[in-house]
Amino acid sequence: MAKQIIPKKHPMPHQDPQVRAKNFSEVALGYSEEVAMAEAGRCLSCKKPFCRQGCPVGVDIPQFIALVKEGKFDEAAKVIKRTNALPAVCGRVCPQEHQCEKFCIVGKKNEPVAIGRLERFVGDYVMHKDEPVEQAEPTGYKVAIVGSGPAGLACAADLARLGHDVTMFEALHTPGGVLMYGIPQFRLPKEIVQKEIANLKKMGVKIETNAIIGQIASLDELLKEEGFDAAFLGTGAGTPYFMNLPGENYNGVYSANEFLTRSNLMRAYCFPECDTPIKVGKKVAVLGGGNVAMDAARTALRLGAEDVYIVYRRSRDELPARLEEVEHAEEEGIQFMFLTNPTKYLGNEEGWLTGLECIKMELGEPDASGRRKPVPIPGSEFVLPLDVVIVAIGQGPNPLLTKTTPDLETNKRGNIVADETGKTSKEGVYAGGDVVTGAATVIKAMGAGRVAAENIHQYLMAKGPKKL
Ligand SMILES: Cc1cc2nc3c(=O)[nH]c(=O)nc-3n(C[C@H](O)[C@H](O)[C@H](O)COP(=O)(O)OP(=O)(O)OC[C@H]3O[C@@H](n4cnc5c(N)ncnc54)[C@H](O)[C@@H]3O)c2cc1C
Ligand code: SF4
Repeated sequence: MAKQIIPKKHPMPHQDPQVRAKNFSEVALGYSEEVAMAEAGRCLSCKKPFCRQGCPVGVDIPQFIALVKEGKFDEAAKVIKRTNALPAVCGRVCPQEHQCEKFCIVGKKNEPVAIGRLERFVGDYVMHKDEPVEQAEPTGYKVAIVGSGPAGLACAADLARLGHDVTMFEALHTPGGVLMYGIPQFRLPKEIVQKEIANLKKMGVKIETNAIIGQIASLDELLKEEGFDAAFLGTGAGTPYFMNLPGENYNGVYSANEFLTRSNLMRAYCFPECDTPIKVGKKVAVLGGGNVAMDAARTALRLGAEDVYIVYRRSRDELPARLEEVEHAEEEGIQFMFLTNPTKYLGNEEGWLTGLECIKMELGEPDASGRRKPVPIPGSEFVLPLDVVIVAIGQGPNPLLTKTTPDLETNKRGNIVADETGKTSKEGVYAGGDVVTGAATVIKAMGAGRVAAENIHQYLMAKGPKKL
């Protein structure tokens, strides 16, 4: 007899929207053991698990879910960690609706199995258990990792496991990349990221912070003078794009990158206890529709803004942000202005922003991205009175490293060119994550870091035993 499926996923317990809109504690509270086991019971253990094909790092989803169903949470964690070192992170931030869950067979007639929530449950269950990691004998080879975001972290973990001597260089004062400076605490508690980084240190990975490669040392100096045998570049895409509209220099116009870094990493949210100031304003507009825009808008609300708008030139269906984050933003009272595009900033004589002129849009024919192109409606301009605008329309790679490494090939957008093994144009140098693909996702960056680690290992092993 066919298995009876409960039509909907087991709901995720959440902090009340009215309460959470005023605090930085995590929004989603996580499944209990009983609920996790019941949700795992919705899985059909398919012989051909399409869910797995939708996972960029190929987690053995049916196997880990079967173990959760039986209450074998430690074993489930081992299965996930074979291919994904950061389940507690990915369970929280992966866009599951476009990945594993999109392909889940249960989703054809009912809601798909809550794969992401189960992954988060398992990641949290084992987070504070100190399982020793099996490591190979030291090879004597030294590898430099530049950038400590998900790509660098995943690459470092695999190389350390394979017995290499790994040093990670991070430009900021705290390692973790976007996981620390971009994604807010209410979505990804920083203790989780730091716990993963502590595990890396236990494996012998050395981390140098405040170390901008291209400034404290060039990549060539690392390779020729500091004794590194190979390098992985995971420097991300941290340089914000602007719209270049008239008035962009008024005080009160921020990049999302600066706004979120000030709040998250420099703890501006507890000013004056921490001495980083942040101007929030009463009426705030965030330009863009991705995860970065949702994070900036929800952070502004928590910091005390009264009206927060998301100004997005397409409609709700085209929003690139994770669905869950859009729903959370709506519940918290973020006001969405769809089919609206900014045209110019307005300001006063003292140079402060006072408003934003916008124009209404309609959707025309599909463009190169396959989405219907927004077209301005003539004469529909209007002014939105504001005191802060946060620009979240995308970001590209920081050019510091590539400018000081002339033989490293980049494309016209400034991304490092790497093949499918992560190999760049420079001998012994591999790259992956946002710096290669442009702004993408945590799991894709981790996948690229792991692929590069495997290929760096092969490159080093092909040289034979290290001559000391
Ligand atoms: C606000 C925000 C929210 C996001 N939300 C999500 C989400 O919900 N889900 C999701 O999957 N993805 C999300 N993303 C995208 C995701 O975080 C990125 O795709 C991912 O972090 C890329 O990883 P990475 O390791 O390539 O780079 P990064 O995480 O950017 O890390 C790169 C690191 O390299 C350092 N660095 C740069 N240059 C140098 C140098 N010369 N020397 C030393 N260090 C250097 C940087 O300081 C940084 O710490 C979000 C991004 C942002 C900005
Ligand atoms: S496709 Fe869905 S039902 Fe099938 S194994 Fe994967 S999670 Fe389970």
